[in-house]
Amino acid sequence: MQIGHDKSHFSQSSELTMDTTTLAQLGRELSRERTELVATLTTRLREDWDKHCEKLTISDLIKESQGVPPGAIRCLGERLEKVDAALCAMDLEIYGLCADCESEIPLDDLMEDAAEQRCPQCRASNYYHHDPATRRTTAGARKTV
Ligand SMILES: [Zn+2]
Repeated sequence: MQIGHDKSHFSQSSELTMDTTTLAQLGRELSRERTELVATLTTRLREDWDKHCEKLTISDLIKESQGVPPGAIRCLGERLEKVDAALCAMDLEIYGLCADCESEIPLDDLMEDAAEQRCPQCRASNYYHHDPATRRTTAGARKTV
């Protein structure tokens, strides 16, 4: 992977080319979002679902939120999982690298969503994979442009 960055002082194995200021800023945003999500989920789960999660850990919260019918709480849980994974990646110094192919995620994407974990290519192919394989209606509907 040659992108032409002249960062030879980056002698660690990390391919991260993001500057530390940006990284710290994204880390702060993610931490703040995680704190908010934990607070919201704790309250919502307790009030709407009568879960006694005063002392639930983040993974407990994620698990509980996945156990309720699809809706706002589950979305919050999924977001928490993503944000937490991104913070985890920061700890491991692999933040900013695609979880699938390990290429760099464009900084613009990370600025837009600091918890983004996949490069545009993998996001696109992931989107395809989520299509139900049974609905193969495209074969007969191919258009010639
Ligand atoms: Zn990728």
